Amino acid sequence: LNGYVGFANLPNQVHRKSVRKGFTFTCMVVGESGLGKSTLINTLFNTRLYARKEVPPPHAERPKTVAIESISADIEENGVRLKLTVVDTPGFGDFINNDDSWKPIVDNIESRFDAYLEQENRVNRAKLLDNRVHACIYFIQPTGHSLRPIDIEFMRRLHQKVNLIPVIAKSDTLTDDEILSFKQRVLNDIAHHRIEIFHAPVYDNEDEETIAENEEIIRKIPFAVVGSDQEIDTADGRRVRGRAYPWGVIEVDNEAHCDFVKLRQMLIRSHMEELKEHTHDALYEKYRSEKLVAMGV
Ligand code: GDP
Ligand code: MG
Repeated sequence: LNGYVGFANLPNQVHRKSVRKGFTFTCMVVGESGLGKSTLINTLFNTRLYARKEVPPPHAERPKTVAIESISADIEENGVRLKLTVVDTPGFGDFINNDDSWKPIVDNIESRFDAYLEQENRVNRAKLLDNRVHACIYFIQPTGHSLRPIDIEFMRRLHQKVNLIPVIAKSDTLTDDEILSFKQRVLNDIAHHRIEIFHAPVYDNEDEETIAENEEIIRKIPFAVVGSDQEIDTADGRRVRGRAYPWGVIEVDNEAHCDFVKLRQMLIRSHMEELKEHTHDALYEKYRSEKLVAMGV
């Protein structure tokens, strides 16, 4: 191997370096209370990031605006560390008048862009902290009808600022046929309103298996998800994460039952870097250049 230069080893170097530094990822969840946001996050990362919450007493004062709450956790799997931050948006869509529900969320995403921009402009920018939101899971109510005005308004306001990943919440409350036609109507609405959702890119220089896997993921959007932090015994004696019904068990990790596995595949196993890259190269870049133009730079 005389002519071997050695750059074929670059991927391993990058890999070792990232493993040493650890990975960071910030994910936002948006949708009305009770749609299963906290449960899905727990299910996705197999953590109790969100403790089961106590039901507030009826006389407790309810907040009147959308709050933004961020929680971080260091999770580790086979020696690889991931610093996960989840940005929750309690209150979204919960009020009598939800006209401006999207506003504090846009503000939060932009202030994270600003914090990054500010670091880039420093003289010493050795270590940039990336607290930008890399993905936003938007929970659609399982109505079976079509998108509601609040869904469309939110997605239109946000689609050029964050990678939008729409999911059909609590899909165990719909039949398979209802899910199929609901998905189609949701996609039609998204196309009609020219909303850009995150599309896992398919590169044709990848092997056939990867291409087929990616196409399979794309076909499932908007993912019909079911979350659960309970383990349940099935009739045939397996212990699974799922939800029990009189007629049987809905298994979270069973692709015949819901699209949870495909969502996890895209978000965590195959496209986390892609989501971060697209946030930096396209979404942040657009924000940054528009901001510089506005400042007359
Ligand atoms: P959040 O307010 O959106 O964070 O919703 P939570 O995760 O707190 O869940 C609200 C309630 O819905 C809880 O009682 C959950 O057990 C239940 N829940 C969560 N995910 C699902 C789901 O996929 N299907 C069904 N049927 N119920 C769910
Ligand atoms: Mg919650």
